Amino acid sequence: MKIQKTVQIPLFSSLASELKFALLLTSLTFLGLIVGLIGENVPKNMSQGHLIMWGGFGLSYVAGGIPAGYEALKSLFSKRRLDVDLLMVLAALGAASIGQVADGAILLFLFSLSNTLQDWAMGRTKNAISALMELNPEGAIIRRDQIEKWCELDQIKIGDTLIIKPGERIVADSRISQGYTSVDESPITGESHPIDKDFNDFLASGTINLNGSVEAMVIRSAGESTLARLVKLMENAQTQKSRTEYITEKYESPYAILVLIAVPLIFAGLYFWGGLEIKEAWYRTMTFMVVASPCAVVISTPAVMLSAMATAARAGVLFKSSASVDTLAGIRTIAFDKTGTLTQAKMTLKNIVSEDEEYILALAAGLEMHSEHPIAKAIVQAAQEANIRPIELHEAQAIPGYGIEAYFESKTQSDVETVGEKAWAGNLRLARRQGACLSDEYQNILDQFNKQGSSSVVIGVGKKIVGIMFVEDALRVGIADVMSDLKKEGIEHTVMLTGDKKEVAKKVAEQVGLNAYHAELLPEDKLQLIGELSKPIAMIGDGVNDGPALVRADLGVAVASGTDVAIDSADVVLAKNDLGKLVGALRLAKEARKTVLLNLFFAFAVIIIVAPLAVAGKIPLPLGVIAHEGGTVFVVFMGLRLLAYRM
Ligand code: ADP
Ligand code: MG
Repeated sequence: MKIQKTVQIPLFSSLASELKFALLLTSLTFLGLIVGLIGENVPKNMSQGHLIMWGGFGLSYVAGGIPAGYEALKSLFSKRRLDVDLLMVLAALGAASIGQVADGAILLFLFSLSNTLQDWAMGRTKNAISALMELNPEGAIIRRDQIEKWCELDQIKIGDTLIIKPGERIVADSRISQGYTSVDESPITGESHPIDKDFNDFLASGTINLNGSVEAMVIRSAGESTLARLVKLMENAQTQKSRTEYITEKYESPYAILVLIAVPLIFAGLYFWGGLEIKEAWYRTMTFMVVASPCAVVISTPAVMLSAMATAARAGVLFKSSASVDTLAGIRTIAFDKTGTLTQAKMTLKNIVSEDEEYILALAAGLEMHSEHPIAKAIVQAAQEANIRPIELHEAQAIPGYGIEAYFESKTQSDVETVGEKAWAGNLRLARRQGACLSDEYQNILDQFNKQGSSSVVIGVGKKIVGIMFVEDALRVGIADVMSDLKKEGIEHTVMLTGDKKEVAKKVAEQVGLNAYHAELLPEDKLQLIGELSKPIAMIGDGVNDGPALVRADLGVAVASGTDVAIDSADVVLAKNDLGKLVGALRLAKEARKTVLLNLFFAFAVIIIVAPLAVAGKIPLPLGVIAHEGGTVFVVFMGLRLLAYRM
């Protein structure tokens, strides 16, 4: 079954072939230039000289000019915008018109080279991501022939049953066969409000399951993996440009128009009022046009951003757009989720307080097998290790910030409307919501464990609490160092936003070295706090409950081990789950910002200094070409330099 592979591969191969084509054109332009120069310099009495020269330069103009001219005309007619590509082609033709054919060819070659280098940087990003994809192949839990197993995406077949937990992406088009839920279809429709899904309803591949734990029958083979989607997003990074890019882009077209208007005016001015000969006036005007083309300005930002994104991707930090690189550079406050972000996603069950430990573990595992939460994983694993079979429950619903609940008997399977009793597992808030009350004895034990930093899970049936479990969480390795490094990089404020109890939050905040903590938060509280804390703010999270806050923050960062909801909501994904990479990414982002400013300064300086000199006739065309295109190549190389940056 290679279905999935054929979905993914065109994405990469098309890019590779695009790059090859660009490289071919640039090489041909170069070849033409060289041949043309040879032809130009053969002794005049050799009749083939002219032929070689025109053949060479002709090739150069065709290979370098036609693709750029085609793109320029396309955007002129379809988008009604004039871009610098057109100026470049006109400038090359202008150079040819005054007998400086070689200069035109050099212009086209360098222009083509800088574009190819950009494509190459983009390709590096793609390669880095595809390497990550091979590192952790994606899959889903399915049931086939009564056996539940994890299955790679391309192995999933029509007729398999997907077992979909809250917060997970639906990996294939399917229909619900058990349970009910609501789904976020915004990845497909762009509309982000939850849509209720019941028995036999259609689940589209790529959408995100929100609260319910459901089973669904696959009706079409699997769609793209999350990483493949990220790659696409990065390809579309063009549509979400960074601020500086946006500014230069906004003025690109008016500027190009300005230059085109200035050209005849300058020519007329030099000829009629300057008293120059027509040939000299035209020569100076063409030199001006070459020099005034803002190629370096336009290319200065994307060259830097693409390289930064590629370098970051290699280190496992995936920026979804170049705008996010720019945003990261300015971040002053960082808000961290606790569970799964500051702490490892791997928790362990430490203690069970109940009259019947085995039953409680079976019940809790029966509930938690429907949850994505790190606490849930700890409990399910403990049951597995103790060889205890989870109790079968139905219609499980996660309640972000509270816990999970499910029923002993399924509504959808029997057509009787009476549902069985409700079982639940979660925090004290959930217990209160169910109308359950903690006995003094339980309360004492709870306080004691919380003070030691263990999180508690209360388990109940109906209004009755049947037991409490304590899970222990290890901090991520080296997390305290990460915090002090972030401070050194100019992050003024670090704060924890957690749904866990205050005592636990306090202990972790102290250990990690955070400035502040806010505990017992619901998803909407996290969202609100993000709005209130000082800006610009980044939020780092992993859970379903972090989604809204990740979207609201100036920069949302998701840990890849987290839920698909978090990954989808974020602007940046830490693919290797290493928060330390954030420090490197921050340094890189600042370096990128600095390089962009330097590039822009340089590019404008060249124009401002050289353009008037061209009009004054102080600069011959070849020098103008070198100043202009040298500037362009310089800014591209300044960008590519970031490819070698050590994160
Ligand atoms: P955090 O913000 O620290 O990542 P969450 O908001 O995900 O924490 O969860 C908040 C609290 O809700 C947890 O500390 C836990 O008490 C409870 N909770 C959430 N989901 C579950 C679950 N599946 N099982 C048990 N408790 C849960
Ligand atoms: Mg979390």
